[in-house]
Amino acid sequence: MSTYHSTTPSPNPSQIFPTAATEIQRFFDLLYPGIGEGYLLLSWPSPTRTHKDGKPALDTSWHNLATTALGRIADRAAAIASTHSVYFGVAIQHPSRHPNPFQRSRNDSAALMPALYFDIDLASGAHAASALPATDADALAFLQTLPAKPSLILHTGGGLHGYWLFESPIYLTTDPERAAMAHLLKEFAYTLRLLGTAYGWELDALRDLARVLRPAGTINHKYGKPVAIIAESAARYTPADFDWLTTLPAPSVHHGPGAGVHDQPDLLRVVEAYGGTLTQKSASEWHGAHPIHGSSTGVNLDVNGDKGLWHCWRHGTGGDALSMIALGERLIGCEDLQPGALSGTRFAHVLEIAHNLFDWTPPGAPRSYFPALTPHLSRGLSTVLRRTL
Ligand SMILES: [Zn+2]
Repeated sequence: MSTYHSTTPSPNPSQIFPTAATEIQRFFDLLYPGIGEGYLLLSWPSPTRTHKDGKPALDTSWHNLATTALGRIADRAAAIASTHSVYFGVAIQHPSRHPNPFQRSRNDSAALMPALYFDIDLASGAHAASALPATDADALAFLQTLPAKPSLILHTGGGLHGYWLFESPIYLTTDPERAAMAHLLKEFAYTLRLLGTAYGWELDALRDLARVLRPAGTINHKYGKPVAIIAESAARYTPADFDWLTTLPAPSVHHGPGAGVHDQPDLLRVVEAYGGTLTQKSASEWHGAHPIHGSSTGVNLDVNGDKGLWHCWRHGTGGDALSMIALGERLIGCEDLQPGALSGTRFAHVLEIAHNLFDWTPPGAPRSYFPALTPHLSRGLSTVLRRTL
């Protein structure tokens, strides 16, 4: 079970090119059967452009499914794969978007979702010292314990990617549909992360509709290993098959008496004050590594500047600026942050720090301020999950 890549062929481009294109096409055919609209995006590390942190930016080619067969796109992916790692946007992008090599998949223009997915890094290579599955066999066994078995499992050289294919790809035509799919993905990742803790693992629960992953048939050039399908089944799903997922914890948001704490300290400033570096994703959205417990992906913290809310993808928790101050001051752990977790003297301490460090005074009555916390919405563990844990 753990010998998938012990017989890794050397990634000799001339050798792998013809068969690679066939396998990439087979993979795309499984994900996007008969889909004839929208854009399938291929991305690869730019040879010329880098981000501020020195990591290469992604260049992207846009393939219009109304005019381009999956086989042609697979040929292109195979050509790129001969020299670069290749990624594809799992969600097909809306046909109204304008192709731009410097832009990639976005949440708000996701138009079709073929599957739920989850990736598991292995404790080797770049992640040698982390709390991750030690072997392929461990990760595979874990995936097979789930109430819904993956339709496809890929070995990516550094870990496993599971795909739970839908009976047919799901069109996302409205913002509420996109939000519902994004929520399902988050709950899925949150639940698998939670299940992984029973094995002592810290799986990353970073998931959104804009995610790019490595297609089967390409090469992971970081490790010089093929990205290959190692297991597949006829299992296909509908969203209703995932009723065993654990409900996401509600964000820890603090409301004062009356008007509530609408005028909190600036969240972006708070995150940066505790060492976080954020990158802007859209007019109001930012992301980066969690300033307190860090991130293996570099982007496990989402911040909405307009709403003054943040979300941690590792722990599935989130909150407002005051909650972030509590984390920054080590008054509570990110994983323990639930509505109601900050109260009494601990919350008074947060307000005092907000005043001293961020020159902030609660609006209204600063001396007689009490938090009214949102109720905890979690319905708790499902029976299936409880049995598994
Ligand atoms: Zn966290």
